[in-house]
Amino acid sequence: MHKFSQGNLRVDFHTHYIPKHFPDMARKYSNEGWPTLIHSTSCQADIYFAGKHYRQMQNEEIAQAVAASPEHFIGLGTVPLQDPDSAANEVRRAVKKLGLAGIEIGTNIQGRNLDDPSLEAFWQACEEVEAAIFVHPASVFAPERTSKYRMVLSVGYLSETGIAAVSIVMSGLLERRPRLRFCFAHGGGTFPWLLPRLDRTWQVFEDVKSIAAAKPSEVAKQLTYDTLTYDPANLRLLIKRLGVDRLLMGTDYPFPLREEPAGAVIDALADLSDQARADMLGHNALRFLGRPPS
Ligand SMILES: [Zn+2]
Repeated sequence: MHKFSQGNLRVDFHTHYIPKHFPDMARKYSNEGWPTLIHSTSCQADIYFAGKHYRQMQNEEIAQAVAASPEHFIGLGTVPLQDPDSAANEVRRAVKKLGLAGIEIGTNIQGRNLDDPSLEAFWQACEEVEAAIFVHPASVFAPERTSKYRMVLSVGYLSETGIAAVSIVMSGLLERRPRLRFCFAHGGGTFPWLLPRLDRTWQVFEDVKSIAAAKPSEVAKQLTYDTLTYDPANLRLLIKRLGVDRLLMGTDYPFPLREEPAGAVIDALADLSDQARADMLGHNALRFLGRPPS
C-alpha cells in the first residue's frame, strides 16, 4: 500500500469521479449485456447494464484509477442499498478485493432513513471490513417544493444530510456498532446547527431518550464532516461543536458549487494552529480513510 507523506499535504476528501467512457463492448462482441453510459449533462451520467444501473463496474473502474496513481488517489465505492444483502457483499468486495477505502452512500434509500432496520446486515459488513462511509445527498425529500432557485442543492441537500445524521445519531446505531466510521458531506448540512435543539429534544422527551443513551451533541463527535461550508464563521461553529479532529477538507469537485481553491475556508481562518490546519487540510482525511500519513 502506498504511504502518503506528511508536509504541506492537501487531501480533497470530497471529489467525484466517474470514468468518462466505458469501452463499447456491445459493438465489439455483439452482446447486449455490456454496460453503457448515458450522459445527462456534461458532467453527469448514469451507468446501465442491460437496462439497469451497474455499480460493480464503477467500483472496478475506480479501483483501476487508484491502482494507476496510488500516490494521488484513494477510492470509495458505491453499493445498491435498496438490496442490503447485495450491498453488504459489495462493500466486502470493494474493500477486501478491490482495495477501496470504503463506500459512499446516499442520505435515504427510496425514501427510508438510514436507521431503517433492513440495513443491519449492511452495517455489520461495513464494521467487519472497517469501511469508511461517506454520506452524500442525492435524492431529496419534498422535491416538488425545492424545484425552483436550485433549492435542491442549497436547501434540499443540506436538510437531507441533517435528517441522515439525526437518524444515525438518535437511533443508537453507534452504541450498538461503535466501530462504524461516517463522514457527512457539505459540513454535515443542517446537522451541526441543529445540535442544541436535538439535545433539548432528547432531554425533554423520554421516548427519544429511551432509544439512545448518549446526548446527541456528544454522539455527533464520533462522526466526521467535510469542511465544505464556504464561510469561516460556519467552519468556526463546526470546530467549536465537533472538534478539529472530526473535520476534513473536501471541495465537491467538479460540480459548480465546489470550493476553489481547495481548502480556501480553512486558509481563511488566520488563528488556527499549524497542527489544526494540517490536520483539517490533509491528515484527518488520510486517518479517516485508513491510510495514515507516514
Ligand atoms: Zn458532492
